[in-house]
Amino acid sequence: MNAPHAPHAHLSRVAHFIDGQPCSGGERWAPVFNPATGDVSAEVQLADAATVDAAVQAGVRAFPAWADTPPVRRARVMFRFKELLEANRDAIATAITREHGKVLDDARGEVTRGIEVVEFACGIPHLLKGEYSEQVSTGIDQYSMRQPLGVCAGITPFNFPCMVPMWMFPIAIACGNAFVLKPSERDPSAALLLADLLKQAGLPDGVFNVVQGDKAAVDALLAHPDVAAVSFVGSTPIAQYIHNTGTAHGKRVQALGGAKNHMVVMPDADLEQAVDALIGSAYGSAGERCMAISVCVAVGRVADELVARLAERARQLKIGDGMDASSEMGPLVTAQHQAKVMGYVDTGVAEGARLVVDGRQLKVPGHEKGFFVGGCLFDQVQPFMRIYQEEIFGPVLGVVRVPDFAAAVDLVNAHEFGNGVALFTADGNTAREFTRRVKIGMVGINVPIPVPMAFYSFGGWKKSLFGDTHAYGMEGVRFYTRYKAVMQRWPGSIAKGAEFVMPTAK
Ligand code: NAD
Repeated sequence: MNAPHAPHAHLSRVAHFIDGQPCSGGERWAPVFNPATGDVSAEVQLADAATVDAAVQAGVRAFPAWADTPPVRRARVMFRFKELLEANRDAIATAITREHGKVLDDARGEVTRGIEVVEFACGIPHLLKGEYSEQVSTGIDQYSMRQPLGVCAGITPFNFPCMVPMWMFPIAIACGNAFVLKPSERDPSAALLLADLLKQAGLPDGVFNVVQGDKAAVDALLAHPDVAAVSFVGSTPIAQYIHNTGTAHGKRVQALGGAKNHMVVMPDADLEQAVDALIGSAYGSAGERCMAISVCVAVGRVADELVARLAERARQLKIGDGMDASSEMGPLVTAQHQAKVMGYVDTGVAEGARLVVDGRQLKVPGHEKGFFVGGCLFDQVQPFMRIYQEEIFGPVLGVVRVPDFAAAVDLVNAHEFGNGVALFTADGNTAREFTRRVKIGMVGINVPIPVPMAFYSFGGWKKSLFGDTHAYGMEGVRFYTRYKAVMQRWPGSIAKGAEFVMPTAK
């Protein structure tokens, strides 16, 4: 990507949304590409610290009245927002495909998974209910409540410009917080569509704000004294930085990082089902999913036939513009990322893995400048190789051969990432043992991409998550609220006289 520059008059400009209004702020601009053509399609303004402060202050002003709004009325805003999202699903999906590159149906699916979190947030009056104990001591009752934090911030990656922000803000807002979203500068438009729909749904100005930007905006949020909590999703080095910096500034932080998701194929697995699952989860969205399968662990005798079938299917992938309904896989997000992924394929060859399918030379007719890489398949990948250890985030699947189930579990558990994993088997006991022993946050049994539903929670283990709470579901409600315990009695039940000993139940 080019260095940030001054805006060009002929390009459309994407800026911020603060206090219920589109607005601009910041001296620097960055190009936004259409990855299918390689053209610059727009320019995004990069917020400076003053712009970030304006967004946070809008949240600070809006917070008290919003936190005081009864949860049932906050939920009604979410119900209206859900209807508007459904009515505008195609417009949001189109904005995603134009800037991210993923195929349009996949973008629609992303919007749907975001809507499901809004549906969960519609139940917020129930989700915020506390506990109550009568007569914990004579005449004394005890209860608990969960209260909003204040202004929360979300910093999100390029690969799900709608779904990942919606893992965060519907729950944060329904809990009574104000929110500042800093989306990826590579595909910034979807966030503005969401802001507009929230306003149409009746959300008071200032409760939801969007600042576009890069590291400067992120650092301003992390250091801002009025930001109470930060949710981050992105790569592991940045997740670790966000967690360290945010907590050093006294904030509550959840930071979800990168992944290297394995799919273990047992000899008793249905091979056709396993191959379908691997092709879809390795090459769908060009491998730019945090839950993409990038390592296939072939157990025992299954390897030769599995590799042969995968190779045949990888060569047949239909790759093209995501707006073309016949495409199964689109381009990568930027030329820079395309070069990085190709570099990993070069590295794998140099490290001695066997490149069975090579997508580096792919040219899509009519889209010669698009950021495409064809599906790549490596066999004989070894754990010491960089292509095994590091996240490539492209359409590159590596096959590791292991002798048995125990070796497969050891391999998965030794990896530094722990986001998702899948096991394909017909045996219930193998599945049960795997589920119990594997050190990974999200497990799929004969399900390749086990992204939890909105009423469960999303998060990895090890270097895939920094912080204690996973995203959305009840973990999200806990993250965006503070717990308070209350004990109460009434004058009629208070005995006379001061008590000097530690009170116990009487
Ligand atoms: P990224 O880490 O480069 O960027 C994420 C966010 O951080 C963006 O908003 C970006 O502007 C900001 N950022 C980038 N560099 C920064 C810096 N030096 N200081 C402060 N902020 C910075 O990630 P990406 O390339 O946008 O997204 C892909 C990554 O996200 C992959 O590693 C993928 O695995 C991960 N991801 C993880 C999950 C998950 O749930 N664990 C989900 C989606 C994506």
